[in-house]
Amino acid sequence: MANVIEESKSSRATCRTCRQKIDKGVLRFGEETPNQFNEGEVSYFWHHLTCAAGKKPLLVREALTAFTGTVPDRPALEALLSNAKPKAAAGERPYPFAERASTGRSKCMQCDEAIEKGALRVAIEREVDTGTFVRKGPGYLHSTCAKEHTGDAELLAKVKKNTPELTPVDVEELTKALS
Ligand SMILES: [Zn+2]
Ligand SMILES: [Zn+2]
Repeated sequence: MANVIEESKSSRATCRTCRQKIDKGVLRFGEETPNQFNEGEVSYFWHHLTCAAGKKPLLVREALTAFTGTVPDRPALEALLSNAKPKAAAGERPYPFAERASTGRSKCMQCDEAIEKGALRVAIEREVDTGTFVRKGPGYLHSTCAKEHTGDAELLAKVKKNTPELTPVDVEELTKALS
């Protein structure tokens, strides 16, 4: 499947994302789709480039590498693409956040002891050096070790902001541990 980015040749297409007309001359993103009337031929689902960037960032990024023309407001498009990322990858959220450990396998980065299953732990971003490249992933801390490890006076506020689903009991426990 090859998707395209091109200048709209007419103003007949309608954006599949926002349902508005795509004006002639503006950049549009075409998602290749098999033509249901002529087998072997393809047709496109068209989107405004900016609409597609918010909805299908990975596909747009891919098409963008093959696009040789000029994107009028490239920084704005790049911003749209990177902001769209957390939604595209489910489960991704900003660090630090808090959660109940789903297993007893994680180890605290501060005290090196295992974090018990069901215990409230704080996840922070950690760089893992695999030998060939550096990967970013979560590092875990006992809630009681988190403040010492990060030295961050704002830690509690940040965790609360990034973890809106915490229960009042969790928040109370965290507040005690982090202050
Ligand atoms: Zn649109
Ligand atoms: Zn610890």
